[in-house]
Amino acid sequence: MRDFNDRVNKIRTNYFWINPKKCKACWKCAELCPEKVIGRVGFLWHKHIIIANGDSCTGCKRCVKICPAGVFSESMPDEIKAFVQNFRMRQRGESGKAADSA
Ligand code: SF4
Ligand code: SF4
Repeated sequence: MRDFNDRVNKIRTNYFWINPKKCKACWKCAELCPEKVIGRVGFLWHKHIIIANGDSCTGCKRCVKICPAGVFSESMPDEIKAFVQNFRMRQRGESGKAADSA
């Protein structure tokens, strides 16, 4: 479960969610954030932001306003919902097996 929470915490703060697939890696939001919340994934063909320090987010929304690509949203992106649903189904399946074998 910790692994799951770690992954989710890379795409949200208490104030918004991000969809890294939409990110154009212009880095405007990362440069603007006064709390250094936003990190960068900078592989050659794979560049996008992640939430590096979500606990420090104050919700000022400067990043949200400057982003030209619609990366930020107040609700969980549909792609993430699908990921969470799949994860929970897998969890239920695994705990069902554990209960059967007990
Ligand atoms: S809302 Fe403000 S503090 Fe939070 S990530 Fe965006 S710019 Fe940084
Ligand atoms: S401003 Fe938007 S497109 Fe630019 S790096 Fe931030 S999230 Fe990505």
